[in-house]
Amino acid sequence: MEKLLQGKVAVVTGAAQGIGLEIARTLHQHGAQVVLADLDGDATARAAGDIATPDLDCVGAVCDVTAEDQVQTLVANTCRDFGRLDVFVNNAGITRDASLKKMQVADFDAVITVHLRGTWLGIREASAVMREQKSGSIVNISSLSGKSGNPGQTNYSAAKAGIVGLTKAAAKEVAHHNVRINAVQPGLIRTPMTAAMPPDVFAQREADVPMKRAGEPGEVAGAVVFLGSELSSYITGTVIEVGGGRYM
Ligand code: NAP
Repeated sequence: MEKLLQGKVAVVTGAAQGIGLEIARTLHQHGAQVVLADLDGDATARAAGDIATPDLDCVGAVCDVTAEDQVQTLVANTCRDFGRLDVFVNNAGITRDASLKKMQVADFDAVITVHLRGTWLGIREASAVMREQKSGSIVNISSLSGKSGNPGQTNYSAAKAGIVGLTKAAAKEVAHHNVRINAVQPGLIRTPMTAAMPPDVFAQREADVPMKRAGEPGEVAGAVVFLGSELSSYITGTVIEVGGGRYM
């Protein structure tokens, strides 16, 4: 049986670890050549080497998603090396949690910049190529935190809610070029990001999930493969929640 992404070329930002790494691995398992982009060149090269198979390439690339020239170079190099761009996943993210009382302007700006400017740059550069190609799918990783609002995450919840508005506005602009843009809102997922949470907070959040467990990065990746593939050919401007039933 033909794989869902056979012959496709994908880029994943923030792909050196966690959800991004698993998205890259799953896109590759479904037949895509994948460019893994992240801040740390050695880590992305190692991750790409682990995923690549003799018959299907995977490469690492250094890219800070907040830097316009680096995102432009990422997209240009992908097109130069692989000849096309079919799936672009805006996954890179950071947290700088603190109560309103303690959060500094720098914590607010850093989170807004990585998530919102980073995703906006990725959308702008990837969609420019895809509209010429007359096909493509962009997937933005938001968070259920952007829907529910999490205390201690006023910066992060604002950024993740912003990604939803950005997704819909951009999707409307490029839909008639056969370029689709959707978002995924993961709930509590077991990654290095959530490993930094105090264990009692993690356990409480897990207990609040109707499925009574945290999700695994591969379970987010499944939704991304669906949105990246032709299985979702008439779906754009939507948000898929991957949260074990949280906030139904
Ligand atoms: P993670 O383990 O911390 O991985 C995020 C990756 O993004 C890291 O490799 C990080 O590099 C990289 N990154 C940070 N800033 C970047 C930048 N400016 N340019 C390029 N790469 C950058 O986080 P994760 O849990 O896998 O999260 C992935 C995405 O899912 C994020 O957007 C996150 O907000 C979202 N999400 C996660 C959860 C969850 O429960 N884990 C839930 C909802 C949504 P460094 O390590 O060097 O900073």
